[in-house]
Amino acid sequence: MSYPSFCLEYDFEIDRVVNWLRSGGYRKVLIQLPPALMRCFSYIYSEIESQIENVILTLSANPSYGSCLVDEVGARAVGAEALVHFGHLEYPFYSPSIPVLYIPLEWRGANIEWLAERIEEVCRDVESCCVVTTAQHLKASRVASGLARARFVGLILGCYAPPAAASCDRVVVIAGGDFHCVSAALMTSANKVICIDPYERNVKGARSLVEKILRVRLWKISKCINARHWLVIDGVLGQHRSTVIDRIRSALSSSQRIHVAVAYSIDESTIRNIDPCSYDCIVVAACPRIAIDDLSRYEKPVLTPGEALMALEGRIDRYVYPW
Ligand code: SF4
Repeated sequence: MSYPSFCLEYDFEIDRVVNWLRSGGYRKVLIQLPPALMRCFSYIYSEIESQIENVILTLSANPSYGSCLVDEVGARAVGAEALVHFGHLEYPFYSPSIPVLYIPLEWRGANIEWLAERIEEVCRDVESCCVVTTAQHLKASRVASGLARARFVGLILGCYAPPAAASCDRVVVIAGGDFHCVSAALMTSANKVICIDPYERNVKGARSLVEKILRVRLWKISKCINARHWLVIDGVLGQHRSTVIDRIRSALSSSQRIHVAVAYSIDESTIRNIDPCSYDCIVVAACPRIAIDDLSRYEKPVLTPGEALMALEGRIDRYVYPW
């Protein structure tokens, strides 16, 4: 069976998957892939079934933007005994209830010397320089940081940065695109974040990326300061955030009301269905990037949990992200 050639650019660690399936005796397995790599399912299937007899692999076609949503529901529906989640490592705030193997999908095209030179350049003028990255560049970033004598502090997610990053003078983000660069800047400080894109081979400061975003966010927060009717949309699995919702609930005054909804995935139509005219301010608790990336044009303010607490507690002098 044929498959796209770009599948070979990533390390699916087939031998590790096969060993794990063999040692657990798993025959019915759900496979979860990032949307852009779902087309590599036939490659994975043929590689695994050439080494294990009678294995039944099912592809989860639900979107997999993070390991916060390991597809436990899909696994149960097809009677899978285990799940292999490609593209991320385990989410720090959630452990799934079925056996899961996480394969980070290291990108094979990394040029470690080029990365080390760039890290060295951007760390030259500071005392403490930390490097964070995504699952696809974990090994390359660790080695390049060592060569550049920078401190490698681990994985960055859209809603999580390693605690050590907060105390560094400079945070270097090695990742494709702007998503993790913006996340690092929102979680630490735009002034100290520099982003290196190993695919495009470019280097940029985060400040220009987040200045406009922060202006829009503060305007939306200010519109919620006197809001009376709040809607909070919670998520499921690793996006279920009861503690965060409790904090929002306890910050409300006696004249404010909150309703909570829950959804597996949230987009504009989810909110439009619930909110004909009832709510002044909407909070997405599930994934903080939905409010910023997908719903910033919605006609009512849609906030992250951190932004909601800023509005409710009247603390708008320091931007809080994600909660
Ligand atoms: S940013 Fe959103 S999708 Fe990414 S790990 Fe966090 S909750 Fe999950």
